[in-house]
Amino acid sequence: MNNIEAARTGIVETGRKMLASNLVTGTWGNISCRVEGESLIAVTPSGMEYDTLQTSDIVVLDMDGKVVSGDRRPSTELPMHLHIYKNREDVNAIVHTHSTYATALACAHRPVAPIVEELVQVVGGDVRVAKYALPGTSELADNVLTAARSRQAALLANHGMVGMGRTLRETFRICEIVEKASKILILSHMVGQPLHLSFEDVQIMREYYLKHYGQP
Ligand SMILES: [Zn+2]
Repeated sequence: MNNIEAARTGIVETGRKMLASNLVTGTWGNISCRVEGESLIAVTPSGMEYDTLQTSDIVVLDMDGKVVSGDRRPSTELPMHLHIYKNREDVNAIVHTHSTYATALACAHRPVAPIVEELVQVVGGDVRVAKYALPGTSELADNVLTAARSRQAALLANHGMVGMGRTLRETFRICEIVEKASKILILSHMVGQPLHLSFEDVQIMREYYLKHYGQP
């Protein structure tokens, strides 16, 4: 399998996992990754069901957004994906979801506070809220990049969340953990005042995760 096919296969598999884990409903959300060894990205098509998606539906584009392979129209959030790849060399995969608890915080314009250990390990701290802008706009892309500085995720005000990692597998895990941490944060407010992890402990856990924990 060449690198373009590997990227397409990875995206189709991630779409199925995303649907099965209830991080999205219907056709919402989108997934992309860099094509290894090329200055290209592969991205989900606009408005197609994840359970019927075939590798041939995945659109491959250059960094200017010009389609080099595929007949489908790319995701409407393509400007956000391209903007992140152009500005974040550490990011090889992006998953955007509308998962319920993360979106609940995003609607209240409240960050996911650094209260859960696995959250700070995979994200690097709290998950900030990108200022509201209409979906698909370069303004939203800019706002997301600002909110995600030195982090691997951001909430999108009144919209959802986006995870950005080294691989599709890691990025999907980031989205699952942000959703779980959002749920815990909201529940924790019902029983008391959630206490934040200290800045120092967050740095130690993040460092350990990057250098020693599992496989990316
Ligand atoms: Zn969206």
